[in-house]
Amino acid sequence: MRMLLKFIIILLVTTSLFAEKEKISLQLEWLHQFQFAGYYIAKERGYYDVVGLDVTIKEMKTDVDVVKEVISKKSEYGIGRSSLLVDRAEGDPVVLLGAIFQHSPSVLITTNPKIKTLKDLNNKNIMITNDVANGATIKAMLLSKGLLYENINFQQHSFKLKDLIDGKTDAMACYLSNEPFFLKRAGIPYKVFDPRDYGFDFYEDIIFTSEDELKNHPKRAEAFYKASIEGWKWAFAHIEETAKIIHDKYNSQNKSIKSLIFEGKVLKELALNKNGDIGTISMEQIDKITNWYRVTGLLKEKYDFSPYIDPLGFNKKRLNIGVLAKRGEEKTLERWEPLATYLNRSLEEYHVVIHPLSFDEIEEHIKNKSIDFLLVNTVNYVQFENQYGISRIATVKSRGMQGEACSYFGGVIFTKKDSKIKNLNMLKGRKFAAVNEDSFGGWIMAYEFLHDIGIDRDDIKLKFYNTHDAVVHAVLNSEAEAGTVRSDTLKHMAMEKQIDFDKVKILEPKQYENFPYTVSTKLYPEWPFAKLNHVSENAAKEVMTALIRMPEDSVEAVKADIGGWTVPLDYSSVHEVLKKLHIKPYDKIDITPFEVLKKYAIWIYVFISILIVGIIQFIHIRKVNLELDRKVHERTEELYEANHRLKELAHTDALTGIHNRGYFMELAEQLFKVAKRNQSPFQILSLDIDYFKDVNDTYGHQVGDSVLKLFTKKISSLLRESDIFGRIGGEEFVICLQNTTHEGALAFAEKILKEIRALEYKNNKGDRISFTVSIGVAELEGDKTLTQLLSESDEALYRAKRAGRDRVES
Ligand code: GH3
Ligand code: MG
Ligand code: MG
Repeated sequence: MRMLLKFIIILLVTTSLFAEKEKISLQLEWLHQFQFAGYYIAKERGYYDVVGLDVTIKEMKTDVDVVKEVISKKSEYGIGRSSLLVDRAEGDPVVLLGAIFQHSPSVLITTNPKIKTLKDLNNKNIMITNDVANGATIKAMLLSKGLLYENINFQQHSFKLKDLIDGKTDAMACYLSNEPFFLKRAGIPYKVFDPRDYGFDFYEDIIFTSEDELKNHPKRAEAFYKASIEGWKWAFAHIEETAKIIHDKYNSQNKSIKSLIFEGKVLKELALNKNGDIGTISMEQIDKITNWYRVTGLLKEKYDFSPYIDPLGFNKKRLNIGVLAKRGEEKTLERWEPLATYLNRSLEEYHVVIHPLSFDEIEEHIKNKSIDFLLVNTVNYVQFENQYGISRIATVKSRGMQGEACSYFGGVIFTKKDSKIKNLNMLKGRKFAAVNEDSFGGWIMAYEFLHDIGIDRDDIKLKFYNTHDAVVHAVLNSEAEAGTVRSDTLKHMAMEKQIDFDKVKILEPKQYENFPYTVSTKLYPEWPFAKLNHVSENAAKEVMTALIRMPEDSVEAVKADIGGWTVPLDYSSVHEVLKKLHIKPYDKIDITPFEVLKKYAIWIYVFISILIVGIIQFIHIRKVNLELDRKVHERTEELYEANHRLKELAHTDALTGIHNRGYFMELAEQLFKVAKRNQSPFQILSLDIDYFKDVNDTYGHQVGDSVLKLFTKKISSLLRESDIFGRIGGEEFVICLQNTTHEGALAFAEKILKEIRALEYKNNKGDRISFTVSIGVAELEGDKTLTQLLSESDEALYRAKRAGRDRVES
């Protein structure tokens, strides 16, 4: 496996090495020196090699004219001066790809110490080449200082610096990068007059080619130019190394390494633009140069150079236009290249390139942002708009047969003239020809119409014929009984004598205002020109303006078969059609329950989750509520109980469990009132245990408590339900007897005495404790109050005590 891989790599490398390289040559405008370093480097370092070029670099020879050399195709490329503009204006088909030196190194040098200003050159000798352009800047400089040609003796250039030093001439046209080096080295003082300092700033060393080369080998032109610029970048970044290479391999002038390094340093300053780029050529600067040429009379009239300046856009921002290539790359390019030509002529800052792309490729390019604009048919635009948010900046106008431009189109539904089919309803069950599934004018528009009147695509025998022409032929040949094509197809074919228009019958024919064709369907907007999201506002604006301004009858419009462009139209009606017919991007509407599930899975999941949580919460809340109810009930019971107990506590004597004083009084009051109202007998008995202090003292307080309990228990057992018994304090008690006579009360009191005497409390030590009680009795009589009654019984009790205890008094 590894062997195989090695073999393949070796094969690839060797085939690329030995692959036939395209042989081309470059004509220089002077002898080998650093002035052409970039090309030597591109050759020596293999930059030309990798782009498949074998470049011969030709230095200047006597009687060679660079421009002629290139337009006669003896050399494909040349290095020329700004005077190329003059040549172009005079009819030489040259195109300027880029300018290496942003400022010309051509200067006037004098070693004559008497010449201090340009004016001092009046009536002096100046050596200058016959070459118009080289002379142009220097002559313009002289003219600008009021010197007249007739007052200067222009001498033939000897190219011998010695002639200047020896005084055979007063000033010599030189290269800033050459002669000053030798003068400095020889220690000879000199003065430079640089046209740039007088406002004459020209490009120098322009890479140019012929129109033919550009047209026939645009890729080669790009490859050569870009490899050369790479060579220049390296040369300026490695001046010493480059000087050595020139010294060793391209030294026809026998220059020293030092002089080559000097040249390289001076030229580097002249080559790089503000941004450090090499090759910049702008129409702005070209306009300035051509103005100077006009001032000096070298250019007679105004001339539009823009098509010949940087035609491949090396120095412009590149804009890539993707075009849907439905009929193959070549045909697409052929049709839309003229649009690029027009745009490149119109756009100052930008250079557009057309890229024919398949549908899938377009999607890739949109995602990668490798195209900036898109030119596609109406339906595909709507799909891309929906999916990628591209937006239209113009709508194309189709070119009618009489050259009339129209930005809408429709569909024609037609049969043969002699067909029995009279209306659309009769299409049911018939063979119907259409272009293809995605064709808007050649199917979708007709489909919408049929759909609207209740004819489904299953109701007709639909067959696609791929092209509009094929549909027309199929109907006329009776292969199909009816068919549909774009609005302009029938007229076009009739014009081209392919069909006889009289043999065609259009169904549901309609005429729209300002629309040249008879159609069956509604009208929809033509192809849009769209921009992608990342495109700058300026680029979009420039392109849009250029499109809208494109004249209907321009050469490029005619070639591209369009009638120019109009402001972007509204494509919402197209969206509606696609929605209605469930066509991409709206094809996912008519879907199975499974697809619904799949598409909305996340929402279904969320909904179900919410539902479940809701149910759980509902159940939980219910449970909680029930629990709460139960607790509340329980609590209420508890509270009731507690209240009840509180009440009891409030009413009961803690030790004995009988009524306490307050409650006894309350109850006694009620019974007292009842007795008074009913005039029924009512008795109060006051009781006090005898010598109780002794019980406490003898047996302890706890035993005393127990005795109190035993006492109340005994008396309670003797009472009736209707009697009340309360503890008034310590060992003092009160009994209230209803419906009991005074005798009955006395007898009951006696019975208590008897029972208590018999009572015995046994403590844990085995002591038997017995005690007695004294009782005073009072009876309700007349209008006595309860308080009076109580104090009467109390008094009776004390009488019993004083009388010896264990007895009853009343
Ligand atoms: P008499 O009434 O016969 O004159 O004599 P007595 O010893 O009962 O006299 P008094 O009424 O002066 O004393 C009451 C005593 O009862 C005082 C106190 O020690 C005792 N006593 C009062 N309340 C309680 C109680 O709740 N528990 C106990 N163990 N003793 C109490
Ligand atoms: Mg007492
Ligand atoms: Mg007592």
